[in-house]
Amino acid sequence: MALPTWDHPEPLAVGSAPVPEYGAGSLADLLPTLAAGMEVPGTTAVIQELAPADRACVFLIDGLGWEQLRTHPDEAPFMTSLLASSRGGTGRPITAGYPATTATSLASVGTGLPPGAHGLPGYTVRDPETRELMNQLRWQPWTAPHVWQPYPTVFQLSHEAGVHTAQVSSPAFEHTPLTKVALSGGTFHGRLSGEDRMDLAAAQLGAGDRALVYTYYSEVDGAGHRYGLDSDTWRGQLMHVDRLVQRLAEQLPPRSALYVTADHGMIDVPFDEQHRIDFDEDWELRAGVALLGGEGRARHVYAVPGAESDVLTCWREVLGEQFWVASRDEAIAAGWFGPTVDERVYGRIGDVVAAARDDVLIIASEREPKESAMVGNHGSMTPAEQLVPLLEVRS
Ligand SMILES: [Zn+2]
Repeated sequence: MALPTWDHPEPLAVGSAPVPEYGAGSLADLLPTLAAGMEVPGTTAVIQELAPADRACVFLIDGLGWEQLRTHPDEAPFMTSLLASSRGGTGRPITAGYPATTATSLASVGTGLPPGAHGLPGYTVRDPETRELMNQLRWQPWTAPHVWQPYPTVFQLSHEAGVHTAQVSSPAFEHTPLTKVALSGGTFHGRLSGEDRMDLAAAQLGAGDRALVYTYYSEVDGAGHRYGLDSDTWRGQLMHVDRLVQRLAEQLPPRSALYVTADHGMIDVPFDEQHRIDFDEDWELRAGVALLGGEGRARHVYAVPGAESDVLTCWREVLGEQFWVASRDEAIAAGWFGPTVDERVYGRIGDVVAAARDDVLIIASEREPKESAMVGNHGSMTPAEQLVPLLEVRS
């Protein structure tokens, strides 16, 4: 796979944003490729370089971007060894999708669809029916999951085709709507510790002649948000998860392939007014805005009816070259959310969409006090947050 072309985007041109590689090398392409290798009907191999395997396990490490992995070989010796040619040169980056955020990416992984189709195009988005913001990660306020995301998951398609399927994650996620819409199909197994998850994932992989298993670890992301990438806590988490990958790799049953990937990377943002533009303190950005959605590096802006073009003009002027600022139709036409956007998803996308180019945020100190205090952030299309690893281990 060729590296995505990220160099020298032109200032302000919406079309210059480095759009995710949907349909060639994005998170949404992974599970369909693995299931197609097991001859599951309705799935297509998109990432051609991945050889078919009867048993495939995806280990998703929340928040571990390709660039962070590449710059920390000492903390991640095992994953780094997977990049070496002596091991087959199996490590490469793929793109997460836009926005590079957990709810959006988990839905892309599980459904095998880009955000414009699965319909979780942000951390918070407007529900066109109620005109209220909906938090896609916490699923608040509650919305009927299968109306919001009606497509079957790749796990469901695989399960129906007789493939043994399982998800091994935190018990807290077993009954959440996000798990329902993104990871349904087969059996969910909750385990508290990373070690237990690795051991169980390996056992589940060996439980069928054909098997598709997903497992997950959240704390690299958590440490990055709280303490930043340049912290001992973050580095300690990376060391821990590297040992988890090795533990799972060493237990793979025969005819298996393990894929280590992530939902997004991360970037540290300095704590000053130049890098953290406060929507709640900025009357220019607030003018004509009915709702502010998304997150600091990937904003959905919903205008008061009639004010859409004024808001677009104003956001472009205020943010200058620090953000790619697009109208909804421009962002859709440029393919930010995938090749197409379903009709039910259209109104969930902001009238104005703003994606950070520099190490900046649009915080909202009053309406989002917790999020506004985070050190590490993600969401946009810069390589640090958009590129995620795709590491392969075969037994
Ligand atoms: Zn996160």
